[in-house]
Amino acid sequence: MTDRDHAIVVEGLRKNYGTHRALDGLDLTVPRGTVRGVLGPNGAGKTTCIRALATLLRPDGGRAEVAGFDVLRQPNEVRYRIGLLGQHAAVDEELSGRQNLEMFGRLYHLGARRAGQRADELLEQFGLADTGRKAIKQYSGGMRRRLDLAAGLIMRPQVLFLDEPTTGLDPRGRREVWNAVRTLVGDGTTVLLTTQYLEEADQLADRISVIDHGRAIADGTADELKSAIGGDRIDVVLHRADELAAAASVVGMAARADGVETDADSLRVSAPVVDRVAALTETVRALAAAGIEARDIALRRPTLDEVFLHLTGARPQEPGAVDEGPPPGKAAGPKAGQGSQGTSGREATV
Ligand code: ATP
Repeated sequence: MTDRDHAIVVEGLRKNYGTHRALDGLDLTVPRGTVRGVLGPNGAGKTTCIRALATLLRPDGGRAEVAGFDVLRQPNEVRYRIGLLGQHAAVDEELSGRQNLEMFGRLYHLGARRAGQRADELLEQFGLADTGRKAIKQYSGGMRRRLDLAAGLIMRPQVLFLDEPTTGLDPRGRREVWNAVRTLVGDGTTVLLTTQYLEEADQLADRISVIDHGRAIADGTADELKSAIGGDRIDVVLHRADELAAAASVVGMAARADGVETDADSLRVSAPVVDRVAALTETVRALAAAGIEARDIALRRPTLDEVFLHLTGARPQEPGAVDEGPPPGKAAGPKAGQGSQGTSGREATV
């Protein structure tokens, strides 16, 4: 593929805040018409990357092209071709959904008639036609986010940046936004989506880039990333906590696995396996021989959560978790579940 086949090309992008390297040689290429998920723990550089690509901040080094134009040398060309849904949307609470969309249309210099038509098209497309005349303050979180998305699409952008689009939404609101994003991609829009919710990346993204400390540390489909950390796993759930250590040693030998993990809360022993059937039969036999009774034994694929933990050493944010405040240098915002806990900064081993 050449640069022309890509909607986004990022090479060695750097951005410093004082001595802090927010972007430290980031590389990223996104083919046209695809959804790229960008995953990373708090402070990894996701928002900084989006802001640089959307021409909202000036990188200190490296190169980035969006929709075929250089973000530093041709920022206006880039701006005509992008939409951005940030973490804080700029809609007017007192106006209705339709009035907001119309206002954005007018700001983009659409005539009054065209702005009204476009507002109606978008309300229809995002399932908001019935509620389009209600004031935004009466909208649910999911409806509001869908309206934010619609507002980013007034000028039919080639590339849409979504910065944590479902943060703070309940599962239903999240699903509503996911469906809206799927509709867009069906229309050929390229989407760059940052998220801390691994299920979101799993659901929407064609490929996922994991970034940490301002660098891409892994890249692949969700399946490729899962396979890269060792293929299938065997899970054994016990009845008794005092058998956890013994079971870990039995499972490790039976499955011929390094990296056996135990979880005292769920009484679970988990290990990567190479030969599924041999590992399962050998584990059942060895546990019986050791007199350890299991409540459940199962073979499964690794989760994206385990991939993330393996790559970054950090757990992704749980939806609805308590906000522990913004990272240094960032204003506090309405972002629920966005703590400032750091990462261990472990390097990728896949
Ligand atoms: P989050 O998931 O918390 O939104 P992120 O991956 O989007 O994190 P960024 O917001 O890009 O991370 O921030 C990357 C790093 O740069 C963080 O350490 C952050 O504290 C720092 N940073 C971001 N903006 C500024 C700023 N304006 N001034 C100083 N430091 C900043």
